[in-house]
This record gives sequence, structure tokens and C-alpha cells, in this order.
Amino acid sequence: MTGSVTVRVMSPEEIAAQSGGQTAFLVWPQRGSVFAERAMRLRQLASGHPMGDYLRAMSALAQAQQRQLDRLGVPELPAADALANAANLATPPLPATDFEPPQVWREIARALAAELMPALPEAGQLTLRSLAGADDAFLDTQADALLHGVAAGVDLGAAPVIGAALQVVWTGACLALKDSAWPVPSAAIHLTEAGRCPCCGSRPTASITQSGGESLGQRYLHCSLCNLRWYMQRSRCAHCGDSAQISFHSLDRADSTESDGARAAQAAIQAECCDACNRYLKIVHTDRDPFVEPVADDLASVTLDLLVGETGKLRHGMNFMLLFAEADGPPPDPGAR
Ligand SMILES: [Zn+2]
Ligand SMILES: [Zn+2]
Repeated sequence: MTGSVTVRVMSPEEIAAQSGGQTAFLVWPQRGSVFAERAMRLRQLASGHPMGDYLRAMSALAQAQQRQLDRLGVPELPAADALANAANLATPPLPATDFEPPQVWREIARALAAELMPALPEAGQLTLRSLAGADDAFLDTQADALLHGVAAGVDLGAAPVIGAALQVVWTGACLALKDSAWPVPSAAIHLTEAGRCPCCGSRPTASITQSGGESLGQRYLHCSLCNLRWYMQRSRCAHCGDSAQISFHSLDRADSTESDGARAAQAAIQAECCDACNRYLKIVHTDRDPFVEPVADDLASVTLDLLVGETGKLRHGMNFMLLFAEADGPPPDPGAR
């Protein structure tokens, strides 16, 4: 693994100047391709990868998610006054811990389990077969644990599929917000917690730098649940907000030779580590690899987690396709349940 590498960081003022003052705070998920692109990237990363079989199975799951999103109706959102109230209080309008997802999510979970079955070896198929026939109570208990970040009681074999179904309905609800009465926040200053999703309050999976046009060089956090991306200044900790004690690590060694060090500074995926709170979040760079996708690349770079973990840093990113021991505990509950 590397030591620290120097990364050129643009100030918010530079970014705004470069983009003509038009820094978009939110990047909405693309309804027609959000999961399909993830599926494609997972397939690409599976080739020659030690976890190739798992990546291919998760690719099949992401493809099935896209089919479910394609046929999902428009979800019912909270009333206009509730949306306005959330905006006034700077809280997420569709909180993972409080918003009642459309009941169809349970059917989606069972359908995803059935569709994924042929992509798994026999042992995995057993879990999926019982999930495909699971009752509402089991599904609700599992969803509740996942959405509240409670590790106890989570069925790890079922979690990727339960999480996938929840992602489909939350992504659909997030897209419906675009056309709703919710006043879209224009900057992180409107949020109580900049490191949590402005739509659902979930933790990000990773962050991504944009490579082209007005968003050149800007960094966005990618929501682990609803797939919304929101702007956050580069070299700033998504967990505690500190920007003074940030260093970047990658799988390329930075401390052996000059050329290796240069390669580490240019790695398409890095861990952005914070010494102030001892957390890290991965960052993927589209200017270094145009095909990076936060969830897929996070999953395929678990070796980086193991190496950063050896230094005692705790993971801030959340990925339903591979759950880690929870470092951060449950997200704050913005309302009584
Ligand atoms: Zn979200
Ligand atoms: Zn921090």
C-alpha cells in the first residue's frame, strides 16, 4: 500500500469559477441506465478477478434491478407540506429510517431472488430459494435492520438481494422527487449533515470525480440506497468534515520508486483517509478510468479495504453487495418511529 500522495485540490471558488458559477449540487440517477451501467462495470471487473464469480453474480443482480426499475410505477411521496417541512428543517425528505417504502418492494425482493438463482452455485441457491418464498414479516425485519444500519440479526446471504430491492424503490422515489414540490437544495449548507444523502439520509458507498464539461474535477458522493449524487468539496472527510488531516492511499506502492509513486497518485480508485476521525471513504476517478462506477468499483477493490483496515482505519462507505462490520452505528433517526 502507499504512503500519502499529493493531490491537486481545487477550492470551491476555483471550481465555481471554472464552471461559470454553475456547480450543480445534485446529480440525479439516470432511470434508464443506473443499474445497467453497474451491471456492465461488474462484468468488466470480473474478468481475471479473484472474486470473479461473485462479481458476475452481482452483475446479474444489478441487471435484474434495472428491469425492476424499468417497470416500477411512480411511487407515492410524502405530501407537499411534509416535503417543504423537511426542506425547512434541512432533513432528508425520504429518510431511510422513517419513510415507508412502497409495499411493492417485497415483491421486487422475491422476484430478484428468483432471477438471481441461476447465477449462483448450489449453496447460494438455497438461500435465494427461501428468500423467493419469504413471508412479509421476515422481509420487513431484514429491511428494518439494513435501513437502520443494525448488524445484529441481518441475514448476510439475503442482504444483497433485500438491499437491491430497497435500492430499486428508493431510486424510483428519488427520481419522483425531481418533479415534486420538494425545493431542491442548491448547496450542502442546506443540510444538517453534509456527509449523508440529501434525499434519504444514507451513507455514501464511495465518491466519484467528474471528468468532463462544467463538472470537471468536481467530486460527488454516491448514495448507497437511492443512487443520488451530491457535491462535496474534494479532500474533505465525508464522516467528520475535517479537511486538514486527509491522505490518499491506493493499491500501488508510492514509497518504492518514483514511477510507482506517480502511478499511485494516478490510481483510478483510492481510499481517502481522515486522521481526525480515523475513517476512510473510497474515491473513484472518471478522468483516470472513464468506466468507473462507485458501487461496482468499491466491491471489486475489497483488497484496498483490507489493507487500509490494517492501519486501524474504519470504513465509512456502505455497500449492500458486501456488508462490513458497522463502523458508524445506526444513522440518526430524524423522526419518531
Ligand atoms: Zn440517498
Ligand atoms: Zn474525518
